[in-house]
Amino acid sequence: MSANKIISLVIATAVSLLLVSTVASARETLVSNQQEFKQAVKKLQPGDTVVMANGTWQDFEMVFQGQGTAEQPITLTAQEPGKVQISGKSNLRLAGEYLVVSGLLFKNGYTPTDSVISFRKSKSELANHSRVTNTVIDNFNNPERFETDYWVALYGKHNRFDHNHLEGKRNKGVTMAVRLDSEDSLENHHRIDHNYFGPRPMLGSNGGETLRIGTSHYSLSDSFTLVENNYFDRCDGEVEIISNKSGSNTFRGNVFYESRGTLTLRHGNGNVVENNVFFGNNVDHTGGIRVINKRQTIRNNYLEGLTGYRFGGALVVMNGVPNSPINRYHQVEDAVIENNSWINSDHIQLAAGSDAERTATPVNSQFKRNLVYNETGKDIFTLYDDVSGISFSGNVLNQVKGPQLATGFASEKVKLRRAANGLLYPVDKDLAGVGVSADLSPIDKKATGASWYPKIDKRIRFETGKTIAVKPQAGALEQAVSDAQAGDTLKLAPGQYLVSKILTIDKPLTVSGGKGVQIKFERSTLFEIVDGGSLHLRGLAISGADAPDNVGNSVIRTSRYSMLVNYQVKIENCDITDLDVNKSFNFLSVAKGTMADDITIANSRFSNISGVVLQLDRETDDFGIYNAEYLRISDSSFSDVQGALVDYYRGGTDESTFGPHFYLTGSTLDKVGSKSQHKASMYLHGVQVANIANNTFKHSAPIRVAHTVGEPITKIVKNDFAATPAPVVAELNSSQENTAVILDNQITMTQQ
Ligand code: CA
Repeated sequence: MSANKIISLVIATAVSLLLVSTVASARETLVSNQQEFKQAVKKLQPGDTVVMANGTWQDFEMVFQGQGTAEQPITLTAQEPGKVQISGKSNLRLAGEYLVVSGLLFKNGYTPTDSVISFRKSKSELANHSRVTNTVIDNFNNPERFETDYWVALYGKHNRFDHNHLEGKRNKGVTMAVRLDSEDSLENHHRIDHNYFGPRPMLGSNGGETLRIGTSHYSLSDSFTLVENNYFDRCDGEVEIISNKSGSNTFRGNVFYESRGTLTLRHGNGNVVENNVFFGNNVDHTGGIRVINKRQTIRNNYLEGLTGYRFGGALVVMNGVPNSPINRYHQVEDAVIENNSWINSDHIQLAAGSDAERTATPVNSQFKRNLVYNETGKDIFTLYDDVSGISFSGNVLNQVKGPQLATGFASEKVKLRRAANGLLYPVDKDLAGVGVSADLSPIDKKATGASWYPKIDKRIRFETGKTIAVKPQAGALEQAVSDAQAGDTLKLAPGQYLVSKILTIDKPLTVSGGKGVQIKFERSTLFEIVDGGSLHLRGLAISGADAPDNVGNSVIRTSRYSMLVNYQVKIENCDITDLDVNKSFNFLSVAKGTMADDITIANSRFSNISGVVLQLDRETDDFGIYNAEYLRISDSSFSDVQGALVDYYRGGTDESTFGPHFYLTGSTLDKVGSKSQHKASMYLHGVQVANIANNTFKHSAPIRVAHTVGEPITKIVKNDFAATPAPVVAELNSSQENTAVILDNQITMTQQ
């Protein structure tokens, strides 16, 4: 053997030994504390696995960095999925190649940075070809409601986020964002699949999107992100469930369940929306797909029971702005909308948003072989402008009399039957090519999310627990409130209750009385609702006569600090009197940074109040934030109220929220508003939906409404105004006449 050959052999042996040793060195390292984790990460080689020990990892900013390979990725995992909980001020950043993270639970904490899981360590160190799977982020919220963060920020390229469970994002900021803010993150080919996007409550402001891909700045770039087979469960944050702001993305096979808002193709061209299923179940503001920009394809989607209107409709095709700046509305061109089924949905809006600025109507677009079925034969199309740039063919309507769009639509009696996949199809075989295909199959909720984490319905429900008897003895009510569990009912025996402490409400609780139950209180408020609390009062007589002789008492108030959890207040058959020991005594006072989902007052009587009944005007920054989504008052009376029945305020001019909503019916206001700050019996500023019907006003200040933005719906009908001025409606940001419907009211200015 020549020397050369020997050398070659030695080299070959060494190389093969090296290969063997590389494979052999793939290690699994169990780490039990932050120091061990950091040490293990420093030494990572392709094929290695870091296993985090079961337990709670507190205040841990994790950096998982390494260079894996396609064949030998580097893995970070839990000793047992779900038994490794990351809490406190914690987050996870990934950087490198071919990394896999699985089995982690983020709970009881929040991120100190701008994201909980980030696919980058710094602006220059990104993660590529990496995956986060089987991981949960549950209510991991900054305690300040309007402090902004993401839960997941995807950077880099070729990353996958799958089978994860994200639930209960309550502070401001997109739940998941695909970031396209540098060259290294464009044309990324990410996959977002089989995730469970659990409930995201109404934020009451812009910034409550569940998924955003891109931003307007990079929106003419392609992202190539695939969003597939995810389940969006009651993602209600704001008007955009998904805000697409880049090109060449695909949204396929997702289910949107009772989610308020729409999948919005806000910016970017050439996106595909196909095989998705929307079940609105007639929940308020449930919407479908909103189309803007060029070359969008909307194909084979099924949309049922969607109630949304205006920009939140079951389908919205927008008008654009001629030569639009990048952040405004680009004209719809070359849209293909085919083989979709809209079933019992309320609104399809074409050329929507047409106004002095948005004058560019859709062009060169097609709407074909769609099934638009409404049981009642209602025509659900609204045409806001010229739609001759959309060609209609082969569509079918159900028994619409004199449809606005006659060409390209057959109106006939359509019989539907629900198939095994849960979707409705025409029975008539001749209609097989119209609407969605027979093989469309909505993803099962169970097939999404982390297999080990349950999807529990955590909606607030009163009267789901025990009933606890309470006697009118000193301290008994205080003790009972403190001891009660979520959903319990305190049943008060007849008698006088003098409450000497503030009753802190930190769970859904019902306090129920009946004849002869009277409550007085000695502190500045009777009830204080804190995070997690909701209050239901029934059959109580509450007097403020024993409250301290100070300015600004209340019967119910929220925490003085920011609250993450939206609350409910429900008042039934109560008598509220003598809130007048000093000035500004309100029934309900709220703090900035708090949000009620629902305030309901029914069959109740309020009298002698020096403040306002409902003070919902603490968001005065005009950022489009407000304090209550729904306020409903029925069959109640209010007399001798110096302030207003309600001061309700939503400032700002952005169009990202559905509310506030206000309903007042069958009620009487007598001498209300004499000292109101707005000289009003009720002041509605920026309220989006107001319906005031069948009420009696006597000797009261006028209703004052200020319209700010978003084509608000105000109806004031069939009321009796005796010795009360007519309602006053102002348009603050429009030179047009106001749009309020004020009809069939009786106004009699009799002698006072
Ligand atoms: Ca938004």
